[in-house]
Amino acid sequence: MSRQTFKFADWTTTPDPKASATYSVFCRDSLNGADDDRNEDAEPCGWSFSVLDDKAEADKQQKAHVEDAGHRFFVEVSTCPTVVTPPPGSVLAGRLARLERATR
Ligand SMILES: [Zn+2]
Repeated sequence: MSRQTFKFADWTTTPDPKASATYSVFCRDSLNGADDDRNEDAEPCGWSFSVLDDKAEADKQQKAHVEDAGHRFFVEVSTCPTVVTPPPGSVLAGRLARLERATR
């Protein structure tokens, strides 16, 4: 039995410096004290906050909502636009470079 060695090319995925990340926070608490997400009587608070490229501000606004409303349960959603780069010297890298030159 022979052994085979597979060498996988080094692709990279990095944040896209030309696009903004988003940070959003949504309150999960209810206005009438029903604290179970599945409780049909729960009246959702509805508070939310979104910001571009500033997670600290999202955290600050979330804490302010805790102080104002006494609500402590949230959902945080963040997006991070990325760029995938094929290995240097690969056929795909050459094809993408030609495509990008043609569209600029
Ligand atoms: Zn709330």
